[in-house]
Amino acid sequence: MPELAPYAVGDANSRGRAQGEPPPAARSEFQRDRDRIVHSTAFRRLEYKTQVFVNHEGDLFRTRLTHSIEVAQIARTVARALRLNDDLVEAIALAHDLGHTPFGHAGQEALNDCMRDDGGFEHNLQSLRIVDRLEERYGAFDGLNLMFETREGILKHCAPAKARELGELGRRFLEDHRPSLEAQICNLADEIAYNNHDVDDGLRSGLLTLDQLSGVSLFARHMAEARAEFPAVTGRRLIHETVRRMIGAQVNDLLAESARRIAEAGVTDLAEVHRAPTLIGFTAAMHAENLELKRFLRAALYRHERVLRETDRGRRVIAELFEAFRRESRLLPQQYQPAVATGGLRAIADYIAGMTDRYAIREHRRLFAATDD
Ligand code: MG
Repeated sequence: MPELAPYAVGDANSRGRAQGEPPPAARSEFQRDRDRIVHSTAFRRLEYKTQVFVNHEGDLFRTRLTHSIEVAQIARTVARALRLNDDLVEAIALAHDLGHTPFGHAGQEALNDCMRDDGGFEHNLQSLRIVDRLEERYGAFDGLNLMFETREGILKHCAPAKARELGELGRRFLEDHRPSLEAQICNLADEIAYNNHDVDDGLRSGLLTLDQLSGVSLFARHMAEARAEFPAVTGRRLIHETVRRMIGAQVNDLLAESARRIAEAGVTDLAEVHRAPTLIGFTAAMHAENLELKRFLRAALYRHERVLRETDRGRRVIAELFEAFRRESRLLPQQYQPAVATGGLRAIADYIAGMTDRYAIREHRRLFAATDD
């Protein structure tokens, strides 16, 4: 393995864990973080949480789990090529969506509405709350006691008021400092992963058509390339040949542009990365094509009537569950009642956010059996 760049995050220049622990015997500190995340309860729940398509719609669509694995794969490729810490990017990528509610963004909006007078709900902060507090696995501490830089990477964005509450971890939002290059990589790897897999899932579901996508330049260009190389190939194989080229083009563009920016900024250590402008990014041309693809997906897929109908049902399930538990906390499973007695509505939000799609639907059926459709 090539040596890490001097501005990479490593065990030696890390700000460490909130609670000191003896160093791991056969792993790096960030491998240990990755392993703690993989063994967590919240990680296993990702398998049954909606990315775009509600979990029961089909077995071949992405879930939050397969999405997170794709993000980790892309992020590791980029990190390794730039001599950055690929264990850290893997840990961040696998944890970045732990705080998502069931039913995707509609679920988050519903829960945020329910909590609007009590601090709101935001999946990004919830991911941090899970790794800092909610996981109950270790004798010595709540949460997973992760390294500072893993937590920094999970907290992608944060409003100033919340940043003040978060102390050291929130400080970069108030001082306008950048996170590590590893965290920056995960943000872009997330985008590359979902834009491309949503094209693939959109076509598979029949909600998107090749005809529509031929108007999107990134797709059209790579489909033309795939057709030129394999004139006889059609159907799913052609789609895959197109999507894999799109991912490759975006990753290679990101690598070249980021290496150029890093060299131009002349950063020599991690402190300089924090003060520099964002160094991981696409060229202007790729950024524009990426934006075009995102806009297309928003209009044609995320706001497709069939997606909205499913997620809207999810929104209703969450709002009604919240209201039922708020009115009568004894409806909650026994083990959550002490948390509600001390933590109030936040504990109800934690419980609902932790549900998988199918668990939420079952709970809803249990409470509203007579009225459910
Ligand atoms: Mg994501």
